[in-house]
Amino acid sequence: MNIILLGFPGSGKGTQAELLKQRYGFMHVSTGDLIRHEIAAGTLLGKKIELLISQGNLASDEDTVNLLVNAIKHRDNDIVFDGFPRTTAQAEVLDRYLKQHGKKVDEVVLLSTREDLILKRLTSRRVCASCGGIYNTYSPDYKEICVKCGGRLTIRPDDTLESAKHRLEVFKKETQPLISYYQQSAGFKKVDGGGSPEEVFGEVVKALGLKK
Ligand SMILES: [Zn+2]
Repeated sequence: MNIILLGFPGSGKGTQAELLKQRYGFMHVSTGDLIRHEIAAGTLLGKKIELLISQGNLASDEDTVNLLVNAIKHRDNDIVFDGFPRTTAQAEVLDRYLKQHGKKVDEVVLLSTREDLILKRLTSRRVCASCGGIYNTYSPDYKEICVKCGGRLTIRPDDTLESAKHRLEVFKKETQPLISYYQQSAGFKKVDGGGSPEEVFGEVVKALGLKK
């Protein structure tokens, strides 16, 4: 089963995708991770994308699709896509690619979350400079350092309030047509993303009809 998780940046898509990976064996494909990896590797493409992001924009469809296809082309797992597709153009490319390989998008889950909660989450995110571990300052067990590796926690340039607001606007403008696109396909589900990760995961599992 191939699943797409849709939702605002900061809606908890990554957490839900990780839970699907850990408990149901999905391959978790995060375009955000693919892009950060490319930037960290210092490739030409990585540098180009880094510049766009520092200006509050997003990577182009073509660059994103190339990164994604490279990541999944030799894998046969069920896949959960997190942060992709972002546009109907990307959705069409993904549909064509999967069809060529005898597959399709089976289910699309929209994590629906209030915007004020999203902004709070986006601006309270900290990332470990060493291992990439992600934390939230309002989480009850938050520490000033990475509990996994002791690394320094940093704020991503795209996690400031101004940047977060801009990302929300860009996201809304781009995603509305995408939601319409998938609402016409059979497996579109909307899940309340406002609860705890476990609560939301319970809803996701139910929506997807997975065995508990
Ligand atoms: Zn760390």
